[in-house]
Amino acid sequence: MSDSISPSNPIPLIQDVTRQELREWMVSQDLPAYRADQVYTWLYQRRVAGFGEMANLGKPAKFALGAHFRIGRLEPAEALHSKDGSIKYRFVLDDGRSIESVLMEHADHHTVCVSSQVGCAMGCDFCQTAKMGLVRNLTPGEIVMQVLAARCDLPDGGNLRNIVFMGMGEPFHNYANVMRALEIFTDEYGFNFSQRRITVSTSGLLPQIRKFGQERVKANLAVSLNGVTDEVRTQLMPVNRTYNLQRLVEACKAYPLASHRRITFEYILMKGVTDSVDDAKRLIRLLHGLKFKVNLIPYNEAPGSKYQRPDWEDVRAFQQHLLGRGVVATLRISKGQDVQGACGQLIVSKSTARPAEALPA
Ligand code: SAH
Ligand code: SF4
Repeated sequence: MSDSISPSNPIPLIQDVTRQELREWMVSQDLPAYRADQVYTWLYQRRVAGFGEMANLGKPAKFALGAHFRIGRLEPAEALHSKDGSIKYRFVLDDGRSIESVLMEHADHHTVCVSSQVGCAMGCDFCQTAKMGLVRNLTPGEIVMQVLAARCDLPDGGNLRNIVFMGMGEPFHNYANVMRALEIFTDEYGFNFSQRRITVSTSGLLPQIRKFGQERVKANLAVSLNGVTDEVRTQLMPVNRTYNLQRLVEACKAYPLASHRRITFEYILMKGVTDSVDDAKRLIRLLHGLKFKVNLIPYNEAPGSKYQRPDWEDVRAFQQHLLGRGVVATLRISKGQDVQGACGQLIVSKSTARPAEALPA
């Protein structure tokens, strides 16, 4: 548990702890292990604020828990409501650092996009978060609390169905804590999220991709491709110097996929850089033999960004080329663009932090 203790609060956060660990802890306190199952249900299904409210626990367990743990809660410091129904939150952590999450509205469900780090070390040329550098990893509890907070904000009858690790940070750079968060999200006594409803997006860290394929919790893998030649991809994503396209594709071919699953490749369309039909042809050649789908993301421009969103006709032509050759290719019309809450726009700075009231809900 040591690496997951919040940097500035010495009292362990209960949301950092997996149920199995809590069961062991209960036994170490001469309490029955099943008390941990009850705690999980109270925390993640009933959403209580204090151990005292956990009615069926019994006094000794309540007392022991209260003496050892705290229940954390993230309150949004800001909530920016976009016209498309999505909400971007800024949360302030115990050490004063800020992170962001986005709650996105779909026809019959919601998706929450969570951050895994404060900032990011990967240095992608097109990404706002890269400008922050890596400040620190989030603890499992800090990831879990983003989902708890987003769920509190759901409209009546709302269904929070999907979690995507596409906020700030490179999840595979914070591998252990992200895996613990996945364990908590999918725990049957806790959130009980379906493994198929969780997607972890990576810039392409190969050792972790291999490891992820062996994990017990089988969440979806998304890989940010963004370039189809080494030259372009290295310009956009420095990680390509270490793990080039050929090695990335080999690792994806070796990735053990459950039946009916595919790897998602995210591909940002940038005007004159990645958006030509020739690029679409290269993409098909590159990924030939894989079970995959492509998620096309027209570039989200930020103030001062050096890349541009392509023309709509080029976006369509790119997608049509893929579809015409039997490639599943969806277009991600990014949510929350008007509040800088879309992909790659998550950066905590004064210039992007406007109060919610400034925008129409
Ligand atoms: N670090 C992980 C996950 C967070 S980034 C990763 O890179 O995969 C989530 C997605 O947003 C990635 O696919 C990334 O390529 C994309 N992205 C980043 N900046 C973007 C921008 N300005 N416009 C569109 N997509 C962007
Ligand atoms: Fe980090 Fe992903 Fe942004 Fe690259 S795209 S800098 S890996 S958050």
